[in-house]
Amino acid sequence: MMLKRTVERFAQEQIAPLVLTMDENSKVEKSVIQGLFQHGLMGIEIDTIYGGTGASFFSSVLAIEELAKVDASVALFCDLQNTLINTLIMKHGTEEQKATYLTKLATEEIGSFCLSEAGAGSDSFSLKTRADKKGDYFVINGSKMWISHAEYAGLFLVMANVDPTRGYKGITCFLVDRGTEGLHIGKPENKLGLRASCTCPLTFDNVKVPEANVLGQIGHGYKYAIGMLNKGRVGIAAQMLGLAQGCFDYTIPYIKERVQFGTRLFDFQGLQHQVAHVATQLEAARLLTYNTARLAEAGRPFIKEASMAKYYASEIAGRTTSKCIDWMGGAGYVKAYPVEKYFRNAKIGTIYEGTSNIQLNTIAKHIDAEY
Ligand SMILES: Cc1cc2nc3c(=O)[nH]c(=O)nc-3n(C[C@H](O)[C@H](O)[C@H](O)COP(=O)(O)OP(=O)(O)OC[C@H]3O[C@@H](n4cnc5c(N)ncnc54)[C@H](O)[C@@H]3O)c2cc1C
Repeated sequence: MMLKRTVERFAQEQIAPLVLTMDENSKVEKSVIQGLFQHGLMGIEIDTIYGGTGASFFSSVLAIEELAKVDASVALFCDLQNTLINTLIMKHGTEEQKATYLTKLATEEIGSFCLSEAGAGSDSFSLKTRADKKGDYFVINGSKMWISHAEYAGLFLVMANVDPTRGYKGITCFLVDRGTEGLHIGKPENKLGLRASCTCPLTFDNVKVPEANVLGQIGHGYKYAIGMLNKGRVGIAAQMLGLAQGCFDYTIPYIKERVQFGTRLFDFQGLQHQVAHVATQLEAARLLTYNTARLAEAGRPFIKEASMAKYYASEIAGRTTSKCIDWMGGAGYVKAYPVEKYFRNAKIGTIYEGTSNIQLNTIAKHIDAEY
């Protein structure tokens, strides 16, 4: 509860005034990133011995939700760092890797997770990036697409195949430092939403990575990616839930104040029923998300639930933000109000960390096995 209040205050006081500028400039403000670190929001689950907050996965979920109420782009920094990057190193890193990287990730350094490629999106394990062993080094060649925060990142967790004859069982995770020769970060994509969070292509041109920078076991990268993306999906559910709630919270006071036909918009029953419907769906998305986070924390199976939470929260975020524009009329459609930005930001929820179809595939696979 204390963390939730801290995040709420930070978001309202230090992020909200900058949201419009960041969206227009397609750039996150330095002060916002600094604030995320200063408030312990980039190393929520990292142990205090490494400078982290030492809190729970559920705390990460609450923090992501709270940040997304104000801005989904800023929430994505907290989300990816905690649910993907830090999780992977905490789970599979050597003591030395933990001491080196977790300390930086908790206090000053942004990480990027590099799995997707031009030809490997939903079918991510068909990736073509190679890592060839040469003495006590690996040499990485290939390219990645859609890499969030690459422009700001100091560390890249790169999935590359050390032995394509073994198919996905050759996929291995490498820790690649930003300054490494041959790592090129391309121009950020010009996106519909999440404009303050950069998304870049990467190329690897004979990038030499010491053997000591292999994360976990050779050939286990695909397992790590699957395990971690399950947690990641709960994070995206929280991001979509927060975004939808933030949009709803902005819109309701507006429709309670605006008068047409001599009465508040909110007093029209046709509108009230829509509001009640959306509020109920939001609450359902919240319960799915929180329940999944609790299952994950308790070490119980949560893969099906994570897919359900991500799928449902993303769909509801799309519906809520669209409805909010309808309820606000023309005011919902222009940039003078934040509602159109929430609408643009919501669309990503059905795409990244597994599209809605991929979530439905996972849910159906579990149902097939259960009955
Ligand atoms: C803003 C943004 C940030 C991102 N950040 C990262 C990042 O940090 N790191 C990273 O590695 N990746 C990142 N991604 C990549 C993202 O995870 C992929 O875009 C996503 O997995 C979908 O892949 P794709 O775009 O190639 O779509 P495709 O896989 O080509 O899918 C296109 C359509 O086909 C459908 N489809 C595909 N396969 C099936 C199937 N088996 N059954 C039914 N339907 C199917 C999909 O549901 C979708 O509707 C990001 C993407 C974006 C847009």
